[in-house]
Amino acid sequence: MIAARVERLAAQLRERGIDLLLVSAPLDVRYLSGFTGSNGLVVATWHEGVAQRFLTDFRYDTQAGVQVPAEVFTREIVSIDLAEAAVSSLPPGPEVGRLGFDDTATTVKQHTRMREQLPAGWELVPCGGLVAGLREVKDAGELAHIRAAAALADAALREVLDWGIVGRTEREVAIELELRMRRLGAEGPSFPSIVAAGTHSALPHAEPRDVAIPRDTLLSIDWGAQLEGYCSDCTRTFATGVIGEAEREVYELVRHAQSKAQAAVRAGPSGREIDAVARTVIEAAGHGEHFGHGLGHGVGLDIHEAPRLSRTAGEQPLRAGNVVTVEPGVYLPGRFGVRIEDLLVVREGGSESLSGLGKEMVEVG
Ligand code: ZN
Ligand code: ZN
Repeated sequence: MIAARVERLAAQLRERGIDLLLVSAPLDVRYLSGFTGSNGLVVATWHEGVAQRFLTDFRYDTQAGVQVPAEVFTREIVSIDLAEAAVSSLPPGPEVGRLGFDDTATTVKQHTRMREQLPAGWELVPCGGLVAGLREVKDAGELAHIRAAAALADAALREVLDWGIVGRTEREVAIELELRMRRLGAEGPSFPSIVAAGTHSALPHAEPRDVAIPRDTLLSIDWGAQLEGYCSDCTRTFATGVIGEAEREVYELVRHAQSKAQAAVRAGPSGREIDAVARTVIEAAGHGEHFGHGLGHGVGLDIHEAPRLSRTAGEQPLRAGNVVTVEPGVYLPGRFGVRIEDLLVVREGGSESLSGLGKEMVEVG
């Protein structure tokens, strides 16, 4: 798997005329090398006969030995800044070359240092997003991890609903959910869980409060598990008893928008087009200004990654193997909010949902 990823990257480097690429963002390094430590650097190349290098420091010697396959990478332990070490020891190769670096994860200071140490004739080329682009299309192993993470998160939520919600504080419920995800085998939550009742549900990124969840209100829970480094992401909005007509109407609107957009997800359309499917439904009901965020995002090693489903997502088509959320919401400040989110694998001609919980309005106690 690692070898195949490095090969796919090498093909891109060749196409773009990049002789060497410094990969420094931790999740990109993990994706390409398997290394899960905090200080690792990959120097990738497409040139036959030039080694794929992996650099780390003394603390990670043993770990790198276990995680980073020796048949793909030469492993180097260095005692200075990894990028500086790589640049000051470029392999023999082209006299004049192009060195790609991640301009989204490199400081101005690091860039200056690299420039100073780079042999004359070498050019620094911004390549941010190159590895992230590869990460957008998941392989079978990655899909298995995300599927398992989603199933685990669902199981934890079912346990918490059985344990009981009403009368407990939002924070208690969030902690219990995270604890149960860990007990079921998760490394942790994939992001801090959102548990938001009543007027608080009108905040898309509400933080759980020390406030008891009352009866007869809406309750939004947005949660996910992390497994083998991979994230899941799901939102359900529940009723804690009898709710008003306005709440029920907005719930059904969001559910309809969510299911229409979900039905439109397949390889081909852009993230912008899928966003528009849900947005059109919500706008037609007069709630356009209450749906202020994008429709969804890619999920993988990172909880928010490419591709995006939003008004600003551009025209790039979704591809088979993308994993994306579809999560429209309607938020009425001071009153209530509803969001429903599923995690989908994009396929040719459709999608597969990894979220196992139903979306009809459910009453919880
Ligand atoms: Zn979410
Ligand atoms: Zn999400």
